[in-house]
Amino acid sequence: MLDADFFRRWMTATAALVDREAERLTALDSPIGDADHGTNLQRGFTAVTAALEEEKPDTPGAVLTLAGRRLISTVGGASGPLYGTLLRRTGKALGDAAEVSAEQLAEALRTGVDAVRTLGGAAPGDKTMIDALVPAVDALGDSFAAARDAADEGARATTPLQARKGRASYLGERSIGHQDPGATSSALVMAALAEAAGE
Ligand code: ADP
Ligand code: MG
Repeated sequence: MLDADFFRRWMTATAALVDREAERLTALDSPIGDADHGTNLQRGFTAVTAALEEEKPDTPGAVLTLAGRRLISTVGGASGPLYGTLLRRTGKALGDAAEVSAEQLAEALRTGVDAVRTLGGAAPGDKTMIDALVPAVDALGDSFAAARDAADEGARATTPLQARKGRASYLGERSIGHQDPGATSSALVMAALAEAAGE
């Protein structure tokens, strides 16, 4: 079973990976965006870590809803409301149980990803974070490591795609040939989840 501590570890591991990869995320956002994705997420997850230390939420659902709210309030770019919605809706779906199973997390995360799809209007193949999140949720039934690998593969598969949502879509065909920054950061979020699970 997964307790609040597990979810805190997931968020702090995400913050650490985002810190480590911030320059790369921003570099990916340079040719097909406005070169701020790394700094956006660094600011957001630093605030998440601080909020979790201050407020000490004591259930899995409370950890994720607090993290989601904090991302929405601190990240100005498109990715703030999108990741904020992902975590808030996943947290809401987990309810107020003290511990949840991996199966419950997989189901809740699917609810969260569906909320991101509704909010942003992106479908798989549109070259967004959805291209990493959907395969990750599909693989989560197998293992956390499988979800991490599926997200990474999904992110790399965005390179030949033409962007149909977000800032990169303004470039039309010129968005082809670049890996999507948001799909890349989603792969980091899933890598942090596998790390928190010790996989
Ligand atoms: P901004 O584009 O406002 O500068 P960021 O650079 O932080 O925001 O985030 C860009 C990423 O957000 C993109 O690489 C993409 O993965 C994701 N994104 C943008 N718009 C959407 C959308 N409508 N649906 C899903 N993801 C999106
Ligand atoms: Mg940007």
